[in-house]
Amino acid sequence: MKNQSIFTLSEQLSRKSISSVELTKYFLERIKKYNPSLNALITLTEDQALNKAAQADIRIACGNATALTGIAIAHKDLFCTEGVRTSCCSKMLDNFIAPYDAKIVSALDAAGAISLGKLNMDEFAMGASNETSFYGACFNPWDLKRVPGGSSGGSAAAVSAGLVMAATASDTGGSIRQPASFCGVTGIKPTYGRVSRYGMIAFASSLDQAGVIAKSAQDCALLLEVMAGFDEQDSTSMQKDVPAYSKMLNQSIQGLKIGVPKEFFSSDVDPDVSKIVMDALKELEKQGAILIEVSLPNTSLVIPAYYVIAPAEASSNLSRFDGVRYGFRCDNPKDLNDLYLRSRTTGFGDEVKRRIMIGTYALSAGFYDAYYLKAQQVRRKVYEDYQEVLKSVDVIAGPTATDTAPLLGMHGNNPKQAYLNDIFTIGANLAGLPAMSIPAGFSANLPVGLQLIGKAFDESCLLNLAHAYQQITNWHTQYAPDFE
Ligand code: GLN
Repeated sequence: MKNQSIFTLSEQLSRKSISSVELTKYFLERIKKYNPSLNALITLTEDQALNKAAQADIRIACGNATALTGIAIAHKDLFCTEGVRTSCCSKMLDNFIAPYDAKIVSALDAAGAISLGKLNMDEFAMGASNETSFYGACFNPWDLKRVPGGSSGGSAAAVSAGLVMAATASDTGGSIRQPASFCGVTGIKPTYGRVSRYGMIAFASSLDQAGVIAKSAQDCALLLEVMAGFDEQDSTSMQKDVPAYSKMLNQSIQGLKIGVPKEFFSSDVDPDVSKIVMDALKELEKQGAILIEVSLPNTSLVIPAYYVIAPAEASSNLSRFDGVRYGFRCDNPKDLNDLYLRSRTTGFGDEVKRRIMIGTYALSAGFYDAYYLKAQQVRRKVYEDYQEVLKSVDVIAGPTATDTAPLLGMHGNNPKQAYLNDIFTIGANLAGLPAMSIPAGFSANLPVGLQLIGKAFDESCLLNLAHAYQQITNWHTQYAPDFE
Protein backbone atom coordinates (compact mmCIF):
# COMPACT_ATOMS: atom_id res chain seq x y z
CA MET A 1 0.00 0.00 0.00
CA LYS A 2 2.85 2.36 0.76
CA ASN A 3 3.87 2.19 -2.90
CA GLN A 4 0.60 3.66 -4.10
CA SER A 5 -0.14 7.35 -4.37
CA ILE A 6 -2.80 8.88 -2.12
CA PHE A 7 -4.84 9.36 -5.27
CA THR A 8 -4.74 5.61 -6.09
CA LEU A 9 -5.38 4.53 -2.50
CA SER A 10 -8.31 6.89 -2.36
CA GLU A 11 -9.77 5.26 -5.48
CA GLN A 12 -9.29 1.81 -3.96
CA LEU A 13 -11.02 2.98 -0.80
CA SER A 14 -13.97 4.30 -2.74
CA ARG A 15 -14.18 1.08 -4.82
CA LYS A 16 -14.03 -0.72 -1.46
CA SER A 17 -11.19 -2.97 -2.60
CA ILE A 18 -9.59 -1.98 0.73
CA SER A 19 -11.08 -0.47 3.85
CA SER A 20 -9.76 2.42 5.86
CA VAL A 21 -9.45 0.14 8.90
CA GLU A 22 -7.25 -2.25 6.87
CA LEU A 23 -5.16 0.63 5.59
CA THR A 24 -4.75 2.11 9.07
CA LYS A 25 -3.74 -1.28 10.52
CA TYR A 26 -1.21 -1.73 7.73
CA PHE A 27 0.51 1.56 8.60
CA LEU A 28 0.26 0.93 12.35
CA GLU A 29 2.05 -2.40 11.75
CA ARG A 30 4.78 -0.66 9.81
CA ILE A 31 5.18 1.89 12.60
CA LYS A 32 5.52 -0.89 15.17
CA LYS A 33 8.07 -2.67 13.04
CA TYR A 34 10.18 0.25 11.91
CA ASN A 35 9.71 3.15 14.29
CA PRO A 36 11.98 1.73 17.02
CA SER A 37 14.94 2.08 14.65
CA LEU A 38 13.89 5.54 13.38
CA ASN A 39 12.29 7.38 16.34
CA ALA A 40 10.18 9.31 13.83
CA LEU A 41 6.93 9.12 15.80
CA ILE A 42 7.08 10.06 19.46
CA THR A 43 3.37 9.54 20.21
CA LEU A 44 1.14 6.87 18.69
CA THR A 45 -2.64 7.41 18.80
CA GLU A 46 -3.63 3.90 17.81
CA ASP A 47 -7.10 3.64 19.37
CA GLN A 48 -8.14 7.05 18.17
CA ALA A 49 -6.87 6.21 14.66
CA LEU A 50 -8.79 2.93 14.50
CA ASN A 51 -11.98 4.67 15.64
CA LYS A 52 -11.56 7.36 13.04
CA ALA A 53 -10.85 4.71 10.40
CA ALA A 54 -14.12 2.93 11.23
CA GLN A 55 -15.91 6.28 10.87
CA ALA A 56 -14.11 6.86 7.55
CA ASP A 57 -15.39 3.52 6.26
CA ILE A 58 -18.95 4.56 7.11
CA ARG A 59 -18.42 7.88 5.37
CA ILE A 60 -17.08 6.13 2.27
CA ALA A 61 -20.06 3.75 2.30
CA CYS A 62 -22.39 6.77 2.50
CA GLY A 63 -20.71 8.27 -0.55
CA ASN A 64 -19.59 11.55 0.99
CA ALA A 65 -15.86 10.90 1.26
CA THR A 66 -13.10 13.26 0.12
CA ALA A 67 -9.82 12.21 -1.52
CA LEU A 68 -8.23 12.15 1.96
CA THR A 69 -10.89 10.12 3.76
CA GLY A 70 -9.21 7.11 5.31
CA ILE A 71 -5.65 8.19 4.41
CA ALA A 72 -2.98 7.66 7.11
CA ILE A 73 -1.05 10.78 8.11
CA ALA A 74 0.71 12.15 11.21
CA HIS A 75 1.34 15.61 12.62
CA LYS A 76 4.55 17.37 13.55
CA ASP A 77 4.47 17.77 17.31
CA LEU A 78 4.18 21.56 17.18
CA PHE A 79 0.59 21.39 15.92
CA CYS A 80 -1.91 21.32 18.76
CA THR A 81 -3.98 18.15 18.81
CA GLU A 82 -6.94 18.13 21.18
CA GLY A 83 -6.54 15.60 23.98
CA VAL A 84 -3.14 14.45 22.70
CA ARG A 85 0.24 15.54 24.04
CA THR A 86 1.70 18.42 22.02
CA SER A 87 5.25 18.79 23.26
CA CYS A 88 7.21 20.63 20.55
CA CYS A 89 9.74 17.98 21.56
CA SER A 90 10.66 20.06 24.61
CA LYS A 91 10.80 19.04 28.25
CA MET A 92 8.94 22.32 28.78
CA LEU A 93 5.80 20.87 27.16
CA ASP A 94 6.35 17.20 27.93
CA ASN A 95 3.17 17.22 30.01
CA PHE A 96 1.08 19.50 27.79
CA ILE A 97 -2.17 18.05 26.45
CA ALA A 98 -3.56 20.53 23.94
CA PRO A 99 -7.13 21.65 24.66
CA TYR A 100 -7.92 22.30 20.99
CA ASP A 101 -6.83 21.37 17.47
CA ALA A 102 -4.66 23.54 15.25
CA LYS A 103 -6.59 24.79 12.22
CA ILE A 104 -4.76 22.48 9.82
CA VAL A 105 -5.32 19.52 12.15
CA SER A 106 -9.08 20.13 12.25
CA ALA A 107 -9.18 20.77 8.48
CA LEU A 108 -7.46 17.47 7.69
CA ASP A 109 -9.62 15.68 10.24
CA ALA A 110 -12.77 17.15 8.69
CA ALA A 111 -11.61 15.82 5.30
CA GLY A 112 -11.37 12.37 6.89
CA ALA A 113 -7.57 11.96 7.03
CA ILE A 114 -6.55 9.62 9.86
CA SER A 115 -3.79 10.84 12.19
CA LEU A 116 -1.70 7.98 13.57
CA GLY A 117 0.33 10.12 15.96
CA LYS A 118 2.80 12.92 16.52
CA LEU A 119 6.18 13.32 14.89
CA ASN A 120 9.64 14.00 16.23
CA MET A 121 11.25 17.39 15.57
CA ASP A 122 13.97 19.69 16.83
CA GLU A 123 12.96 21.34 20.11
CA PHE A 124 10.62 24.24 19.28
CA ALA A 125 11.62 23.71 15.61
CA MET A 126 15.09 25.13 16.30
CA GLY A 127 17.62 23.06 14.47
CA ALA A 128 18.51 21.44 11.19
CA SER A 129 19.14 17.85 12.26
CA ASN A 130 16.37 16.79 14.67
CA GLU A 131 19.10 16.22 17.27
CA THR A 132 17.81 18.91 19.65
CA SER A 133 14.61 16.90 20.39
CA PHE A 134 13.94 16.16 24.07
CA TYR A 135 12.91 12.65 22.93
CA GLY A 136 16.22 11.92 21.25
CA ALA A 137 17.41 12.09 17.68
CA CYS A 138 15.45 10.78 14.75
CA PHE A 139 17.37 8.72 12.18
CA ASN A 140 17.57 8.91 8.42
CA PRO A 141 16.00 5.85 6.73
CA TRP A 142 18.65 5.95 4.00
CA ASP A 143 21.44 5.59 6.57
CA LEU A 144 20.65 5.20 10.25
CA LYS A 145 24.00 6.76 11.17
CA ARG A 146 22.84 10.01 9.60
CA VAL A 147 20.39 12.74 10.55
CA PRO A 148 17.07 13.08 8.71
CA GLY A 149 17.50 16.86 8.69
CA GLY A 150 15.41 19.27 10.66
CA SER A 151 13.49 20.58 12.17
CA SER A 152 10.73 18.42 10.59
CA GLY A 153 12.98 15.33 10.73
CA GLY A 154 10.23 13.06 12.04
CA SER A 155 7.86 14.12 9.27
CA ALA A 156 10.42 13.46 6.53
CA ALA A 157 11.70 10.18 7.99
CA ALA A 158 8.17 8.80 8.56
CA VAL A 159 7.09 9.51 4.98
CA SER A 160 10.41 8.31 3.57
CA ALA A 161 10.14 4.96 5.39
CA GLY A 162 6.47 4.51 4.50
CA LEU A 163 5.14 4.78 8.07
CA VAL A 164 2.46 7.25 6.93
CA MET A 165 1.35 8.49 3.52
CA ALA A 166 1.92 12.16 4.36
CA ALA A 167 2.84 14.38 7.28
CA THR A 168 2.30 17.94 8.34
CA ALA A 169 5.43 20.00 8.90
CA SER A 170 6.55 23.58 9.39
CA ASP A 171 9.24 25.72 7.83
CA THR A 172 10.75 28.85 9.43
CA GLY A 173 14.09 28.76 7.63
CA GLY A 174 14.02 25.49 5.71
CA SER A 175 12.55 22.92 8.05
CA ILE A 176 10.28 21.32 5.47
CA ARG A 177 12.60 21.48 2.48
CA GLN A 178 15.93 20.48 4.04
CA PRO A 179 14.67 17.26 5.71
CA ALA A 180 12.66 16.46 2.55
CA SER A 181 15.92 16.76 0.62
CA PHE A 182 17.88 14.58 3.08
CA CYS A 183 15.20 11.86 3.20
CA GLY A 184 14.30 11.74 -0.50
CA VAL A 185 10.71 12.96 -0.17
CA THR A 186 8.66 15.88 -1.48
CA GLY A 187 7.93 18.89 0.72
CA ILE A 188 6.19 22.21 0.19
CA LYS A 189 6.40 25.37 2.26
CA PRO A 190 3.50 27.52 1.08
CA THR A 191 3.51 31.31 0.79
CA TYR A 192 3.51 33.10 4.15
CA GLY A 193 -0.17 33.65 4.95
CA ARG A 194 -1.47 30.83 2.75
CA VAL A 195 -1.99 28.33 5.57
CA SER A 196 -3.31 29.24 9.01
CA ARG A 197 -0.83 29.22 11.88
CA TYR A 198 -3.62 28.95 14.43
CA GLY A 199 -2.64 26.26 16.92
CA MET A 200 0.91 25.96 15.60
CA ILE A 201 3.30 26.66 18.45
CA ALA A 202 5.19 29.78 17.43
CA PHE A 203 8.95 29.92 16.88
CA ALA A 204 9.46 33.06 14.72
CA SER A 205 6.02 34.31 13.76
CA SER A 206 6.99 36.40 10.74
CA LEU A 207 8.75 33.42 9.15
CA ASP A 208 6.86 30.31 10.35
CA GLN A 209 4.67 28.59 7.82
CA ALA A 210 2.85 25.27 7.98
CA GLY A 211 3.12 22.87 5.07
CA VAL A 212 3.29 19.25 4.07
CA ILE A 213 5.70 16.43 3.32
CA ALA A 214 4.61 13.49 1.16
CA LYS A 215 6.03 11.15 -1.46
CA SER A 216 4.97 13.19 -4.48
CA ALA A 217 3.84 16.64 -5.60
CA GLN A 218 0.42 15.17 -6.35
CA ASP A 219 0.06 13.88 -2.78
CA CYS A 220 1.24 17.26 -1.42
CA ALA A 221 -1.37 19.00 -3.59
CA LEU A 222 -4.16 16.84 -2.16
CA LEU A 223 -3.26 17.84 1.40
CA LEU A 224 -2.42 21.46 0.71
CA GLU A 225 -5.76 22.22 -0.91
CA VAL A 226 -7.43 21.13 2.34
CA MET A 227 -4.99 22.92 4.67
CA ALA A 228 -4.80 26.26 2.82
CA GLY A 229 -7.15 29.20 3.08
CA PHE A 230 -8.19 32.18 5.13
CA ASP A 231 -8.70 31.69 8.85
CA GLU A 232 -10.08 34.49 10.94
CA GLN A 233 -8.19 33.09 13.93
CA ASP A 234 -4.85 33.89 12.27
CA SER A 235 -4.47 37.60 11.58
CA THR A 236 -1.69 36.95 9.05
CA SER A 237 -3.63 34.46 6.95
CA MET A 238 -4.67 35.84 3.57
CA GLN A 239 -8.14 36.19 2.19
CA LYS A 240 -7.39 34.56 -1.15
CA ASP A 241 -9.11 31.76 -3.02
CA VAL A 242 -7.41 28.40 -2.83
CA PRO A 243 -7.08 26.72 -6.21
CA ALA A 244 -7.85 22.99 -6.50
CA TYR A 245 -4.13 22.25 -6.66
CA SER A 246 -4.54 18.55 -7.39
CA LYS A 247 -6.63 19.30 -10.47
CA MET A 248 -4.07 21.69 -11.95
CA LEU A 249 -1.16 19.31 -12.29
CA ASN A 250 -1.07 18.38 -15.93
CA GLN A 251 -0.31 21.71 -17.49
CA SER A 252 2.47 21.95 -20.03
CA ILE A 253 5.75 23.41 -18.83
CA GLN A 254 6.61 24.48 -22.37
CA GLY A 255 8.11 27.98 -22.21
CA LEU A 256 8.14 28.08 -18.39
CA LYS A 257 11.06 30.29 -17.32
CA ILE A 258 13.29 28.86 -14.61
CA GLY A 259 15.81 31.23 -13.04
CA VAL A 260 19.00 29.54 -11.89
CA PRO A 261 20.83 31.74 -9.35
CA LYS A 262 24.57 31.58 -9.80
CA GLU A 263 25.01 31.98 -6.02
CA PHE A 264 23.28 28.60 -5.55
CA PHE A 265 26.07 26.83 -7.40
CA SER A 266 29.04 28.26 -5.52
CA SER A 267 32.05 26.26 -4.41
CA ASP A 268 30.34 25.68 -1.02
CA VAL A 269 28.06 23.17 -2.71
CA ASP A 270 29.19 19.57 -2.94
CA PRO A 271 30.11 19.01 -6.62
CA ASP A 272 28.03 15.86 -6.84
CA VAL A 273 24.97 17.71 -5.49
CA SER A 274 25.52 20.53 -8.01
CA LYS A 275 25.74 18.06 -10.85
CA ILE A 276 22.62 16.13 -9.84
CA VAL A 277 20.61 19.34 -9.53
CA MET A 278 21.93 20.65 -12.86
CA ASP A 279 21.00 17.35 -14.54
CA ALA A 280 17.48 17.68 -13.11
CA LEU A 281 17.21 21.19 -14.52
CA LYS A 282 18.40 19.96 -17.92
CA GLU A 283 15.70 17.31 -17.78
CA LEU A 284 13.13 20.09 -17.30
CA GLU A 285 14.72 22.00 -20.18
CA LYS A 286 14.16 18.94 -22.41
CA GLN A 287 10.48 19.16 -21.48
CA GLY A 288 10.34 22.71 -22.78
CA ALA A 289 11.29 24.85 -19.77
CA ILE A 290 13.74 27.68 -20.40
CA LEU A 291 16.74 27.97 -18.05
CA ILE A 292 17.96 31.51 -17.38
CA GLU A 293 20.95 32.40 -15.21
CA VAL A 294 19.96 34.93 -12.55
CA SER A 295 21.55 36.47 -9.48
CA LEU A 296 20.41 36.78 -5.86
CA PRO A 297 23.28 39.03 -4.76
CA ASN A 298 22.46 39.06 -1.04
CA THR A 299 22.47 35.28 -0.62
CA SER A 300 25.48 35.38 1.71
CA LEU A 301 23.57 37.73 4.08
CA VAL A 302 20.50 35.56 4.63
CA ILE A 303 22.03 33.55 7.46
CA PRO A 304 23.22 36.49 9.57
CA ALA A 305 19.87 38.27 9.03
CA TYR A 306 17.85 35.15 9.89
CA TYR A 307 19.90 34.39 13.00
CA VAL A 308 19.03 37.82 14.38
CA ILE A 309 15.36 37.98 13.34
CA ALA A 310 14.37 34.40 14.19
CA PRO A 311 15.97 34.38 17.69
CA ALA A 312 14.55 37.88 18.38
CA GLU A 313 11.03 36.66 17.63
CA ALA A 314 11.67 33.38 19.44
CA SER A 315 12.82 35.15 22.60
CA SER A 316 9.54 37.00 22.65
CA ASN A 317 7.35 34.01 21.71
CA LEU A 318 8.97 31.72 24.25
CA SER A 319 8.54 34.17 27.13
CA ARG A 320 5.08 32.62 27.66
CA PHE A 321 6.73 29.45 28.98
CA ASP A 322 7.20 30.75 32.49
CA GLY A 323 6.18 27.80 34.65
CA VAL A 324 3.00 29.61 35.66
CA ARG A 325 0.42 29.10 32.95
CA TYR A 326 1.36 25.77 31.43
CA GLY A 327 4.27 23.49 30.80
CA PHE A 328 7.06 22.44 33.10
CA ARG A 329 7.22 23.92 36.61
CA CYS A 330 10.18 23.42 38.95
CA ASP A 331 9.64 21.92 42.42
CA ASN A 332 9.29 24.10 45.51
CA PRO A 333 10.09 27.54 44.12
CA LYS A 334 11.29 30.01 46.76
CA ASP A 335 9.66 32.97 45.07
CA LEU A 336 8.40 34.07 41.66
CA ASN A 337 11.85 34.80 40.30
CA ASP A 338 13.11 31.39 41.36
CA LEU A 339 10.05 29.81 39.71
CA TYR A 340 10.79 31.53 36.38
CA LEU A 341 14.49 30.89 36.56
CA ARG A 342 14.50 27.22 37.48
CA SER A 343 11.47 26.31 35.32
CA ARG A 344 13.06 27.82 32.24
CA THR A 345 16.58 26.60 33.04
CA THR A 346 15.37 23.02 33.38
CA GLY A 347 12.54 23.11 30.83
CA PHE A 348 14.49 24.35 27.80
CA GLY A 349 17.36 22.61 26.05
CA ASP A 350 20.68 24.20 25.10
CA GLU A 351 19.79 25.26 21.56
CA VAL A 352 16.58 26.94 22.67
CA LYS A 353 18.43 28.78 25.44
CA ARG A 354 21.09 29.86 22.95
CA ARG A 355 18.41 31.35 20.69
CA ILE A 356 16.67 33.13 23.60
CA MET A 357 20.00 34.65 24.66
CA ILE A 358 20.83 35.81 21.12
CA GLY A 359 17.32 37.21 20.68
CA THR A 360 17.16 39.14 23.92
CA TYR A 361 20.66 40.51 23.30
CA ALA A 362 19.77 41.66 19.77
CA LEU A 363 16.62 43.35 21.03
CA SER A 364 18.12 45.03 24.06
CA ALA A 365 18.41 48.79 24.23
CA GLY A 366 21.68 49.93 22.72
CA PHE A 367 21.96 46.94 20.37
CA TYR A 368 18.57 47.11 18.71
CA ASP A 369 19.67 49.39 15.86
CA ALA A 370 22.95 47.60 15.30
CA TYR A 371 21.42 44.14 15.06
CA TYR A 372 17.65 43.91 14.79
CA LEU A 373 17.11 46.97 12.63
CA LYS A 374 20.06 46.06 10.42
CA ALA A 375 18.74 42.53 10.01
CA GLN A 376 15.33 43.88 8.98
CA GLN A 377 17.03 46.09 6.38
CA VAL A 378 18.85 43.05 5.00
CA ARG A 379 15.56 41.15 4.96
CA ARG A 380 14.08 43.90 2.80
CA LYS A 381 17.04 43.67 0.39
CA VAL A 382 16.64 39.92 0.11
CA TYR A 383 12.91 40.36 -0.52
CA GLU A 384 13.69 42.86 -3.28
CA ASP A 385 16.26 40.52 -4.86
CA TYR A 386 13.67 37.77 -5.13
CA GLN A 387 10.95 40.13 -6.41
CA GLU A 388 13.31 41.48 -9.05
CA VAL A 389 14.27 38.03 -10.31
CA LEU A 390 10.67 36.82 -10.27
CA LYS A 391 9.68 39.66 -12.59
CA SER A 392 11.48 37.87 -15.41
CA VAL A 393 11.15 34.19 -14.44
CA ASP A 394 8.30 31.97 -13.17
CA VAL A 395 10.34 29.87 -10.79
CA ILE A 396 13.78 29.99 -9.17
CA ALA A 397 15.56 26.63 -8.90
CA GLY A 398 18.71 25.19 -7.38
CA PRO A 399 19.87 22.78 -4.70
CA THR A 400 17.88 22.61 -1.46
CA ALA A 401 20.99 22.04 0.65
CA THR A 402 24.71 22.25 0.07
CA ASP A 403 25.19 18.55 0.73
CA THR A 404 23.49 15.25 1.54
CA ALA A 405 22.51 14.27 5.10
CA PRO A 406 25.41 14.63 7.57
CA LEU A 407 26.37 12.01 10.13
CA LEU A 408 24.76 12.25 13.56
CA GLY A 409 26.68 14.44 15.98
CA MET A 410 28.57 16.25 13.23
CA HIS A 411 27.54 19.70 14.37
CA GLY A 412 27.33 18.98 18.08
CA ASN A 413 29.97 21.46 19.12
CA ASN A 414 29.65 23.80 16.22
CA PRO A 415 26.24 25.46 15.96
CA LYS A 416 27.58 27.95 13.40
CA GLN A 417 28.34 25.12 10.99
CA ALA A 418 24.79 23.80 11.43
CA TYR A 419 23.33 27.26 10.82
CA LEU A 420 25.13 27.45 7.45
CA ASN A 421 23.11 24.44 6.31
CA ASP A 422 20.11 26.57 5.44
CA ILE A 423 21.78 29.10 3.16
CA PHE A 424 19.56 28.25 0.15
CA THR A 425 16.28 27.81 2.01
CA ILE A 426 16.12 30.85 4.30
CA GLY A 427 15.70 33.35 1.44
CA ALA A 428 12.19 32.08 0.66
CA ASN A 429 11.20 32.56 4.33
CA LEU A 430 12.66 36.06 4.52
CA ALA A 431 10.80 36.93 1.30
CA GLY A 432 7.61 35.04 2.30
CA LEU A 433 7.61 32.98 -0.92
CA PRO A 434 6.37 29.43 -1.57
CA ALA A 435 9.09 26.81 -2.05
CA MET A 436 9.44 23.06 -2.52
CA SER A 437 12.07 20.38 -2.37
CA ILE A 438 11.72 17.35 -4.61
CA PRO A 439 13.95 14.27 -4.92
CA ALA A 440 16.36 14.66 -7.83
CA GLY A 441 18.79 11.76 -7.48
CA PHE A 442 21.33 10.14 -5.20
CA SER A 443 24.91 10.88 -4.25
CA ALA A 444 26.65 7.89 -2.63
CA ASN A 445 23.21 6.32 -1.99
CA LEU A 446 21.92 9.42 -0.21
CA PRO A 447 19.05 11.51 -1.59
CA VAL A 448 19.60 14.94 -3.14
CA GLY A 449 16.83 17.53 -3.34
CA LEU A 450 16.00 20.06 -6.05
CA GLN A 451 14.54 23.26 -4.67
CA LEU A 452 11.87 25.26 -6.52
CA ILE A 453 10.89 28.74 -5.30
CA GLY A 454 7.84 30.47 -6.76
CA LYS A 455 5.95 33.74 -6.84
CA ALA A 456 3.78 34.61 -3.86
CA PHE A 457 0.58 32.50 -3.82
CA ASP A 458 1.64 30.62 -6.94
CA GLU A 459 1.92 27.21 -5.27
CA SER A 460 0.14 25.72 -8.33
CA CYS A 461 3.05 26.57 -10.57
CA LEU A 462 5.52 24.83 -8.25
CA LEU A 463 3.32 21.76 -7.79
CA ASN A 464 2.72 21.51 -11.53
CA LEU A 465 6.43 21.77 -12.33
CA ALA A 466 7.31 19.24 -9.62
CA HIS A 467 4.62 16.90 -10.92
CA ALA A 468 5.93 17.26 -14.48
CA TYR A 469 9.39 16.25 -13.23
CA GLN A 470 7.95 13.33 -11.26
CA GLN A 471 6.16 12.07 -14.39
CA ILE A 472 9.51 11.52 -16.11
CA THR A 473 11.65 10.40 -13.15
CA ASN A 474 11.24 7.86 -10.37
CA TRP A 475 13.47 9.29 -7.64
CA HIS A 476 10.40 10.09 -5.55
CA THR A 477 9.06 6.52 -5.62
CA GLN A 478 12.16 4.91 -4.10
CA TYR A 479 12.36 3.41 -0.63
CA ALA A 480 15.55 2.84 1.33
CA PRO A 481 16.41 -0.89 1.10
CA ASP A 482 15.73 -1.57 4.79
CA PHE A 483 12.22 -0.12 4.57
CA GLU A 484 10.98 -1.78 1.38
N1 GLN B 1 17.41 25.25 10.69
C1 GLN B 1 16.80 26.51 10.91
C2 GLN B 1 16.90 26.86 12.36
O1 GLN B 1 17.52 26.15 13.06
C3 GLN B 1 15.38 26.49 10.42
C4 GLN B 1 14.42 25.86 11.34
C5 GLN B 1 13.01 25.88 10.86
O2 GLN B 1 12.74 26.11 9.68
N2 GLN B 1 12.09 25.65 11.77
O3 GLN B 1 16.36 27.82 12.83
